[in-house]
Amino acid sequence: MISPGIQGRMTLLAIEREIGFYITMHAIVFMMLLTAADPSVIRTRIKGSLTQSLERSDPLNGQMLAMQVERLVRWKGDPCRKIHAGDSISVVYTRDAMPELLAVEYKGLEVTFDAYRHQDSDGMMRFFDGTGYRYEAVLNNSPTVYAQVTEWMQCKQRGQRGHKGIDLKSDTGTPVVAPFAGTVTRVNWSRRVNGLCIEMVHPGGKITRFLHLSEVAKGIHRGAHVAKGQHIGRVGSTGRSSAPHLHYEIEGSHGRPIDPIKLHGTSPPTQLTGTQLTAFQQVLANYNRLIDGVACKGSPCVAASRR
Ligand SMILES: [Zn+2]
Repeated sequence: MISPGIQGRMTLLAIEREIGFYITMHAIVFMMLLTAADPSVIRTRIKGSLTQSLERSDPLNGQMLAMQVERLVRWKGDPCRKIHAGDSISVVYTRDAMPELLAVEYKGLEVTFDAYRHQDSDGMMRFFDGTGYRYEAVLNNSPTVYAQVTEWMQCKQRGQRGHKGIDLKSDTGTPVVAPFAGTVTRVNWSRRVNGLCIEMVHPGGKITRFLHLSEVAKGIHRGAHVAKGQHIGRVGSTGRSSAPHLHYEIEGSHGRPIDPIKLHGTSPPTQLTGTQLTAFQQVLANYNRLIDGVACKGSPCVAASRR
């Protein structure tokens, strides 16, 4: 028979072991990520556009990196207006066939932020700020669980194709549900471009479209009635798509696109807690060490946002 005091200490030891294991695993995963992908760091100041500024340090990956940084700036306003000459930027990234942004620290005239990629509790890689809050606000009543908004709605401008909805980066196979009750009007049209896709009409005449699916759920065909929250398909990368994501668009009864972020609204980001926060802080320290190890280009060099 073990006394309650000893039992308590044993439980405490077990918990400590578990926390230690969790943190170690995260540190190992982070180190594997670093060694496998050979991360690079750019510390510079904005001169010309964001793309030009990053291309000066890395001509091959600058443009792709700038795109990824702009997705984050977008939450602060129009990147074209918010990024100014003289702003300081530090980025950590992998240099694979497709460069992947791991961390960014930005200190500018109008916007200052930091964002670090880390595995969230649901397994998805998301960006968090230095205090462990999810960087992006969360889409209310989202049709799918997603990692990041990778493309926003963009009206057609001269010489540009425009983008009638938003792209939600997610894993292939992630369930897609109907955000509103409605009736299916079309399934799998223009497959070369849209891939597997669903269109629905909702009371009041609003239309929603879901493109690039890997699967359309059973029973989802023209004329089918769908309840709010009903499973209608799964995220994929079919049609004209380069990575798994859900293209989600809404068209008003007037025939013009409606921004899903505005219609759905967003909730404030949540913060990592407990062991996940501790693990994130370790990862953050590693990112910061990497950034601090590189001298900043441009003089005088203003420290990044965290300093
Ligand atoms: Zn899209």
